Amino acid sequence: MKSYVAVDLGGTNLRAARYTPDGELLTHIKHPTLAKDSNESVLDRVVHLVQEVLPANDGAQDEVEAIAIGAPGPSNPFTGVVYNAPNLPGWVNLPLREIMQSRFNLPVELGNDANLAALAEWKFGAGRGHNDLVYLTISTGIGGGVISSGRLVVGANGLAAEMGHVVVAPDGPVCGCGQRGHLEAMASGPAIGRTARARLRGGAASSILELVDGHIKAVTAQHVGQAAKDGDPFALELLNEAGTFIGRAVADFMHIFNPSIVILGGGVAINVGELLLQPVRAAIRDRAMSDIYYINCPVTTVQLGDDVGLLGALALALETHPV
Ligand SMILES: [Zn+2]
Repeated sequence: MKSYVAVDLGGTNLRAARYTPDGELLTHIKHPTLAKDSNESVLDRVVHLVQEVLPANDGAQDEVEAIAIGAPGPSNPFTGVVYNAPNLPGWVNLPLREIMQSRFNLPVELGNDANLAALAEWKFGAGRGHNDLVYLTISTGIGGGVISSGRLVVGANGLAAEMGHVVVAPDGPVCGCGQRGHLEAMASGPAIGRTARARLRGGAASSILELVDGHIKAVTAQHVGQAAKDGDPFALELLNEAGTFIGRAVADFMHIFNPSIVILGGGVAINVGELLLQPVRAAIRDRAMSDIYYINCPVTTVQLGDDVGLLGALALALETHPV
């Protein structure tokens, strides 16, 4: 039987699975990443992970069409080099494809995790049936992926669709990338937590303080989400502000890509759902040049869960090595 191996390299968990060309799951495995270990040991674990999901070594391995890997952080799908994986120390300019290809003697494809999540939602999730899709993940960082005219947009070096690194507040705080006022610096989980802590220190009243026993420095976006769901006005205002920044950026993306669906994922968006989506939609209505951009373009949340990275890798494998 033909099959594909999908690998998802997360900062917390390493996952691998083998699927049939129809997307039927044959085998699945998950191990902690233990990212603080040396570069070699994480790489060793990735190799072992793939070994574990390959068919029993009786020659049947020949039936695997390809291995596709979703890597955290920017990578080059043409050269197979991971430029930099912020959650995997030492993974800088790592020739991952070459390493895996020589180890397994199988074709290896590489993709950025946010791009692959967009691919997964397009093929298997909320974006099925659409040809033009914008996907944003609101999490520790803000990443994204774009399907345009039925193709994943990767750019010349695989660095396209870094949607979190657009300027939404020119005088805003410095982003993790070193530039100022990027969407990621204004509306990611850490950004929401940082703003919450600053205002609580300034004397703002909120039920968040009860959630952390008064320890303001312990406040995270998760507490903000929890309090917002309980109707806390301070927390709702924080989500409103974050959603407004996201919506303004999405209006710009709509002007560039004219999508027929916008899909938001990542821990922050999944946790609070409509509490974030409503201000996103309001800001889009406010900023779009024409209502044609949003009238028939739903702004919705992801449908896929923890296996989104694996399904994205599968989608990449199916696209690049069709049977
Ligand atoms: Zn940035």
